[in-house]
Amino acid sequence: MTKRVFNFNSGPAVLPLPVLEEVQRDLMALPGVGMSILELTHRSKTFDRIIRSAESSLRELLGIPNNYNVLFLQGGATLQFSMVPMNLLAKDKSADYIVTGTWSKKAVKEAQRVGTVNIITTPEDSNFSRIPQQDELKLDDSAAYIHITTNNTIFGTEWKTEPSVGNVPLIADASSNILSRPIPINKYALIYAGAQKNIGTSGVALVIIRNDLLDRIPTGLPVMLDYRTHIENKSLYNTPNTFGIYIISLVCQWLQNKGGLAAVQCENEAKAKLLYDVIDALDFYRGHADTNSRSMMNVTFRLPSEELEELFVEEAAIAGFEGLKGHRSVSGLRASIYNAFPREGVEALVSFMKKFEQKYG
Ligand SMILES: *Cc1c(COP(=O)(O)O)cnc(C)c1O
Repeated sequence: MTKRVFNFNSGPAVLPLPVLEEVQRDLMALPGVGMSILELTHRSKTFDRIIRSAESSLRELLGIPNNYNVLFLQGGATLQFSMVPMNLLAKDKSADYIVTGTWSKKAVKEAQRVGTVNIITTPEDSNFSRIPQQDELKLDDSAAYIHITTNNTIFGTEWKTEPSVGNVPLIADASSNILSRPIPINKYALIYAGAQKNIGTSGVALVIIRNDLLDRIPTGLPVMLDYRTHIENKSLYNTPNTFGIYIISLVCQWLQNKGGLAAVQCENEAKAKLLYDVIDALDFYRGHADTNSRSMMNVTFRLPSEELEELFVEEAAIAGFEGLKGHRSVSGLRASIYNAFPREGVEALVSFMKKFEQKYG
């Protein structure tokens, strides 16, 4: 096998090694099926077992009750920026969007094409370094829904608890932290996530939607953009991303074998702590996110100069660390350490950071 690097990319991102090994082993023919997952019709019993396994694992891992539907759609999280308001933002209402970064801004832009949006945000001068406190949120009791981004992939901030929203449906883009820890599903009316960060490969968007929202969907939407189409057809209205759903089923089994999301949370907390501890211990490094808004999945930090940041990325690549360059809107560095990112890789980066500081600090 060719050597694998430590892949810190923000998405598509590292997958669990046991999943890759299983895919490789079964790629020519799924056991007992005689053909590859890449060749299998989505109308077969085998594929039906795979998609139902992905769904039931997700239901078990996240504790999703029966009054929620689990959908595997296409168009990424980005299409959900449009589908959410098209289905749920009634003409006579407005929706509250809490803007905490680049992805929430994009969600707002699409919602504004559909209806009225009330934007709630933290001061721009903080460059999205924190999640707003409850008392800063001027929420509208009569809003159609409230939209949040649970983890801000680019800025490295994360909601630690859900905002209090009363009876207004809470809708979340959880693309970059879903399955990283247990969450109280019943506080959400709808959760969506692109799969390529923490669930699997690109080309699938997971949507978890509560039944009572369906009554609000207007008639006349294009069939593929109406949630009811996908609920009625169990995500098989047209050909879904069969390979992507297969990967999700394997990733979920891997998580279940680890002991579920509480166990995964412990590992994730420990990994993130290793990195934040070195950032806090050495003046040379400066975390972007406020301490109590720090993301467990995307660790963003700066060095004393842009020259040193470039040098860090270069030397890190030579040492076998890929994908550490931060997004251009924050600059600096970003280490994405999703569920599948191995602890050894975090330990190796920490020791690299200490040596780099000794050399250039
Ligand atoms: C990556 C990301 C998206 C975009 O996902 P696509 O699947 O590429 O459309 C949206 N929101 C968040 C929070 C993300 O991290």
